Order: sequence, then C-alpha cells, then structure tokens
Amino acid sequence: MSKYIFVTGGVVSSLGKGLAAASLAKLLEARGLKIAIIKCDPYLNVDPGTMNPFQHGEVYVTDDGAETDLDLGHYERFTNAKLSKDSSITAGKVYYSVITKERRGDYLGKTVQIIPHITDEIKERIKKLAKTDEVDITIVEIGGTVGDIESLPFLEAIRQMRWELGENYAINIHVTLLPYIKSAGEQKTKPTQHSVGRLREIGILPNILMCRTEKPITQEQREKIALFCNVDVEAVVEASDVKHIYEVPSALKKEGLDTLVLKKLNIKLPDKGLKAWEENVVKRLRSPVHEVRIAVVGKYIALQDAYKSIYEALVHGGIANNARVHIVKIDSESIEKGDPRKQLKGIQGILIPGGFGNRGIEGKIRTVQYLREKKIPFLGICLGMQIATIEFARNVCGLKGANSTEFDKDTKYPVISLLEEQKRVENLGASMRLGVFSCEIQKGTKSFEAYKRVTIEERHRHRYEFNNEYRAQLQQKGFIIAGRNEDKDLVEIIEIKDHPWFVACQFHPEFKSKPDAAHPLFEAFVTAAMKHSK
Ligand code: GLN
Repeated sequence: MSKYIFVTGGVVSSLGKGLAAASLAKLLEARGLKIAIIKCDPYLNVDPGTMNPFQHGEVYVTDDGAETDLDLGHYERFTNAKLSKDSSITAGKVYYSVITKERRGDYLGKTVQIIPHITDEIKERIKKLAKTDEVDITIVEIGGTVGDIESLPFLEAIRQMRWELGENYAINIHVTLLPYIKSAGEQKTKPTQHSVGRLREIGILPNILMCRTEKPITQEQREKIALFCNVDVEAVVEASDVKHIYEVPSALKKEGLDTLVLKKLNIKLPDKGLKAWEENVVKRLRSPVHEVRIAVVGKYIALQDAYKSIYEALVHGGIANNARVHIVKIDSESIEKGDPRKQLKGIQGILIPGGFGNRGIEGKIRTVQYLREKKIPFLGICLGMQIATIEFARNVCGLKGANSTEFDKDTKYPVISLLEEQKRVENLGASMRLGVFSCEIQKGTKSFEAYKRVTIEERHRHRYEFNNEYRAQLQQKGFIIAGRNEDKDLVEIIEIKDHPWFVACQFHPEFKSKPDAAHPLFEAFVTAAMKHSK
C-alpha cells in the first residue's frame, strides 16, 4: 500500500513547489523507494493544451500524449517516476467526469455535490496510480495557493485522505515564504503563520514547513515558526535560493528533509547519499571547462517558463559536453525588423523551438536563411522544422511564397500542410498528433551519428506535417529526409547537405532529456556549436 505526501503552497505562487516535490522524490528514490508523483491543478480547463503559453508556460507532453503542466517536466528530469495522463489531475477533468457520470445516471436519485462527489473523484484519481503500479510513496502536489477558492475541493480531498489513512501513512508538507523586509533588515514569519492558519481552518495540520527564503533562518526563528504553526522545530526546513535548480535536492538533503519525511512515515532505510547526482550533475554544472553561446529564437521569449524544457535540455547538452551554455533569448519579431548579423553576432548555435500562429514567422525564416548561409549549427524543433522547410523551399528551390497552410491557407506551395485526418478535427482540445511515435533514422546522417540507432521513439505535439508532394523537389537541391515514421510515411527529421550541423525534427526531443542523460540531439548540437568559432 502506498503512503502519501501532499505538498501544498502558501503566501504566494511561484515558490517552486514543483521543484520541491521533484527534489524530494529524487531524495526518496535515492533511498531505494519507488515513487509516483501527481500534480493537481485547480483550474477548469481539462488540460493546459488550449492555453496560451503566456498564461500557462510550456505545455509538457508525456509518452501517452497527455498535455500537462510543466511541473511534470521537473518530475521526469529529477526522477525515474513513470508519468502518464494519470499523473495530472485538473479540476476540469474531475468535473467533466462527474458531470458525465451524472448524465449517464450513475448517481440516480442523488443530489450531485462538491462533497462527496467531486472530492471522491479526486481521491479515486489520486489513488489510481498507486493501484496500478507497485508504488511505495505517492507525492501529490496541489497547484495554486492555500486560500484560493478553486483549490478547496482538492484540499478537502487530501484532508479526508489523511484522516482515513492515519498517521505514518500520509503527511503534508507546506511550502511557504519568509519574505525579507529590507528596510527592517528582517525576515518575516507572519505570512507563514497566516497561511498555516488558513490550512488549519480547513482541517489540515502541516507536518513539515518548507520555508523559501533568501537568507538563512536562525534557530530563534525556527523555534518561533514551530511554536506558532504547530510543527516540530526540526520540521521547519530551510529552502533557500540556490544557483541552479539541480542543486535543490542536495540543499534539502543538507536540511535533513529525507530523514525527516521517512521518520514521519515510519519507514526505516539506510542513507546511501546522493553521490551519482552530485558527481554527474551538480559538480559538472558548477565547474564546467568550456563555454558556448546558443541563441533561442522564438515568440514567447519574454516568459521564462514558455520554453522550460528547451532551456533545460540545452543545459543538459552542456553538462554532457562539460560546457556552460549561455542561452541568448531572441524575439523572432525583432529579427523581422532588425539585422540578424548584428543580433546573432558571437552566437555559435541557433535553436528554433515549437510554436503556433503567424506572429514572428518571417523573423524565424530569416534566421534560418542566415544560419544556413553562414553555416551556423542549427537545431529546429517542431515549428522549427517546418520553418526550415519553408525557408529551403523558398530560397533554395525558388518556390516563391512557399508556406505552411497554418500561416497562409492559399499559398501556391504548401510545403507544410494538414493531413486529411486533421482536416476533420472539430474540437481543438487534445486533438493534435500527441505523444510517442516511432521514427526510422537514415544511416550516414548527423541524426544517426547522434542517436547511434535506427529506431527511436519521440514525443509529438503538432497538427501540421511536411507535405510529401514536395519531397523529391527539395531532395534534388540537397534537402535530406533523415528520419521517417514508416506507419504513416511522415517526415520526422530533416537535414541539409554541405552544412556543419543542420538538424530539425517534427517531434519534441526536449521532453526526454535529463541532466544526467542529455538527449542525443541536444548533446550533439552543443558539441557542434562548441566547434563553431565565436
Ligand atoms: N504549429 C505547428 C503545428 O501545429 C507546430 C506545433 C509545434 O511547434 N508544437 O504543426
């Protein structure tokens, strides 16, 4: 039977609950436990797939094609936990299924209510993962901040679960903030007290307080927080800012978090440390030998979280190459108006990520033309591959006005277009080509050199495809189809001749990259960029 750790957050959002949950999972895995992690999101969207990245940040995709919160990306990067559509529970999913059951007549005769029907549905979903897999501990992160109206059913569900399971089977970790007030020169505990008070009102007593702080917490403050928040002094855990996110597990271990959690859950296991992670990730991050400058040219550059997995995968590529990757973020619209020679000066590699819609497209096409002609290493992802195809069709094959039908329905040369099955799609939610599909790689290509394998499996999230009618025409001019999905005869990876490293893929390799196992394309891309002189 799985034990449970519920992670809630208080005072403000963006405290890094997801990172805290992922890091705790890492520490518990290092003790030899099998962990499952779930993210609960209280919004009414069924999934974040239809949200703008500016609203939500990146949409993270699992193997089974679920469109999820970016915290699931942290979970996968830090742990071996298996994630699927069951790892993400949104209020939208919960209400959708309760209302569907009501219409079917499942609750015949009853009034359907938030308590018990919505809360029961939440509990069932939380317990489902542990039922299907042999899991020792399930970590459940509740999105949002305690005090929000919409997260109440989730908090009520975990209150009930804690009561039903009892001590030693379920605990609550509350992540909170100790703001430092400059003018007073003091770190304040009151917001934490208030937020724990809010939790107590709904019947949840936290077992551990994880305090996010800029400055170390003194013993005196730990005692004060313990006394006013009803927790043991040792359960006041300092979570101070670290230079890099991959240092969080070590920082929390130093605070004794894993030992504390195991004690509260009454689990006895020896401490084997965190050696491999510290050697292979933290140490390499802290003191790299080389440096490299890579530009990401995209549309959602202003938002830190929009290309989360891309930025992380670049860092992983750096770790594998013993290099610090300086990521230069460039808004593609600015390249439309500006001069790529100036904007991309000193850049050793260029990445064009995924995206939707017209804005910034011409800037990206211009960027590809520049890097193709100047022979700067290039990794194109999803929309990035489509852009590379359009650029090649226009500027190498002379197909003037070539485009994707996403941006120009009436283009004379639709080199990127919709498959028949996508033309029939009516609902926009969860209807893209989603999740893992296989791809066969052509030997003798840069991609094969990177993967060292013929058959690969990668995650997808797109509607539009390379239009096979243009295959021969483009290939004649040096366009290489380096990877193909054989089932549907779809182009998955392209390269071009006579370029040091020009690889673009229709799938999203960034979702499968880990700090201690960089994705082969990211590793090879960073290697190529390092070879390109500044
Ligand atoms: N907009 C493009 C499509 O739907 C690319 C999607 C993406 O980059 N994720 O095919």
